[in-house]
Amino acid sequence: MSPVSSEFRYRLQGALIAAACWVGVEAHAGDEPPVRDLRITMLSTNMAGNPGMSGMGEWGFGALVEVDGKRWLFDTGHRADTVLNNAAELDLSLEEITDVILSHNHGDHAGGLVTLRRAWAKKNPDALSRVHVGRGALWSRGADVGGGEWNDFISIREDYQELGGEVIVHDEAIELHPGVWLTGPIDRPHAEQPPMRSGHVVWPGDIHRPDDVPEDMAMVFDTTEGLVVLAGCGHAGLINTLEHAQKTVRPEAKIHAVVGGLHLASASAEKLDWTGEKLIELGLEHLHGGHCTGIAPVYHLREVVGLPREAAVVGAVGSSFDLRSGINPLWIAR
Ligand SMILES: [Zn+2]
Ligand SMILES: [Zn+2]
Repeated sequence: MSPVSSEFRYRLQGALIAAACWVGVEAHAGDEPPVRDLRITMLSTNMAGNPGMSGMGEWGFGALVEVDGKRWLFDTGHRADTVLNNAAELDLSLEEITDVILSHNHGDHAGGLVTLRRAWAKKNPDALSRVHVGRGALWSRGADVGGGEWNDFISIREDYQELGGEVIVHDEAIELHPGVWLTGPIDRPHAEQPPMRSGHVVWPGDIHRPDDVPEDMAMVFDTTEGLVVLAGCGHAGLINTLEHAQKTVRPEAKIHAVVGGLHLASASAEKLDWTGEKLIELGLEHLHGGHCTGIAPVYHLREVVGLPREAAVVGAVGSSFDLRSGINPLWIAR
């Protein structure tokens, strides 16, 4: 089957799932936010090394998501075995997880997928057997100089399918479970992130454009405390992502927490000040920034937004955000 027809089939499956989930959206529209228990635990990020739990740090991201007793894996780390080993050290089982969300195609988020599927399928054939991505995750990436295929996920998908894995492509937002959303591709009214310097992306119709990672998507949780947003690498821009989350899920809700990679490591002080002012308007109460957020930008935003120390923390492997107790930073990131 050609890549084009294959992708169309996955998109069709995604549309069918979206249609099925729409029934659920209608059922609780206007009701109380459905999510009452939520925990997000970082399994891959740059910082690691807590006393009693050494873990493995890397340039990458991956997190375990737990909502009202159901689990998902969001991104899979960079090196093949980082998330596998870190989850084992934390005594976290991935056996019952069927669905994986990949925020975008880059290898520092998709690198562990095949190893994780191979390992956990031995215990449960359905473990990690479905991957959700945004439209564009399988589009070819080319270097402006030198040629070759730069989309890491194209070859990873082939290996994953050989292990029985299924890839579902989403054109738009979808509610996977009551109050648990994928944004799908994110609207970008603010020019927050420049395109990747490495090359271009090939849109349908063989249209070559600068690669702004069009598939980038986040998870959004519609909780009793407000919206919680989990981002992988923030290529769509943090404020674009949060405004899109509000518009999609619950326009009147404040942003209770932001967790994950926010792509601010090289942001200027002016850009961080602008971002912080926007975060104040959005009502942000917790910032758990890992991976490409950088360290100094978390503390800069803490100052601008006026968050207490315990509510703006650099994420480490094993650190978590919990809807009831806030951020557990571990010793290393206190
Ligand atoms: Zn990336
Ligand atoms: Zn990344």
